[in-house]
Amino acid sequence: MTTTEKISTVNYHLVKGCNYGCKFCFANFNDVEKMVPFKEQKKMLEIIAAQKYIRKINFVGGEPTLLGKRLVDLVKYASKLGLTTSVTTNGSLIDERWVREISRYLNILTISIDSATDEINRLSGRCSKVGVLPTLAHYEVLASACHKYGVNLKINTVVTKFNKDENLALFINKLNPMRWKIFQALRVEGENEANFDQCEVSDAEYEAYCNRQLDSVANKSIVVVETNDLMRGSYLMINPEGCFFDNSNGGYTTSQKIAEVGFEKALSQINYSVEKFVARNGEYDVGNKNDKSGLYVKTRHFRKRQRERNVSDMEVNAVLSSIKCSFAGKALIVVGKPFMKLNHISIPHKNMIVMLDRFVLVTVFFCENLCELRTKNQIVLL
Ligand code: SF4
Repeated sequence: MTTTEKISTVNYHLVKGCNYGCKFCFANFNDVEKMVPFKEQKKMLEIIAAQKYIRKINFVGGEPTLLGKRLVDLVKYASKLGLTTSVTTNGSLIDERWVREISRYLNILTISIDSATDEINRLSGRCSKVGVLPTLAHYEVLASACHKYGVNLKINTVVTKFNKDENLALFINKLNPMRWKIFQALRVEGENEANFDQCEVSDAEYEAYCNRQLDSVANKSIVVVETNDLMRGSYLMINPEGCFFDNSNGGYTTSQKIAEVGFEKALSQINYSVEKFVARNGEYDVGNKNDKSGLYVKTRHFRKRQRERNVSDMEVNAVLSSIKCSFAGKALIVVGKPFMKLNHISIPHKNMIVMLDRFVLVTVFFCENLCELRTKNQIVLL
């Protein structure tokens, strides 16, 4: 099956609640009475992972981090089932430690950031219900934790009347995400009509906003522009009750429960467009934390060398990815000075290649069973 025949990403809206009160929010799920219990959420992940064309799952809300440890367990379970994992959050309830702990299982952390000014965040409701505002320092802590622990950082920005004249790109440059998605605020019947007149931007205003950011952003290739038209019917979405829903007709159309009627039957009850999914650049590859085709190891010496030579984490990851691509298959990549630490592992030396990168010694081992190597506690996974 080619990637253009089916949508390969599922957005699983786990919860209907949020600690923020954004006026443009279209994920209130006013019609949903109760969310699926934890056990059934895990079962849902199994159903999703059994669909061979689904490769990525994005956990969304409401605010998914309100689930606390349960969200971490779901991300871990999805990763173990072989899915690429992503969480979309307002970031207010997580910290560096949270990113570190989930980093072994999480491929993408998406933080919703609409503005770098308190005034705009207050007016748009992007703050807690008692008025606690997000801080730029907190966003920076989360971004640097992603870079430090090898989680791909994505930023989502919604353009509204409140922020339409801002230039957010300078702050985005500081955060250095791999992807910056800029949405046009979308009216959804039954979800956000009450406040939407305050939020709505015209196509021309939205285009002007995007052009301004494109002029200032350091890396233009990270920007993904998503108009109202592209947002409609281009997502495969599951609501907190375990039903598919789509937004192609202005409001939400909901299927029967997936667990009761099966994935394909429920899917046949909603509208979605694979062409639009592709047009909005929904198909992009960030790898998979459960990927058995290669393994990176960093030793204690590595950080020292990296610091001495002033090499950024991004540069390191780019080098590792390119090596992994070149030796797709059974490759164990060791960075630093690994021989002492790994000499108890029997790896045939004839299969060893040593390369000298500009900043660090890179050793690539080829071996039969990378899973076994994962269990050795001397190995630190990236
Ligand atoms: S943070 Fe997200 S889910 Fe929460 S109110 Fe804002 S848009 Fe809605």
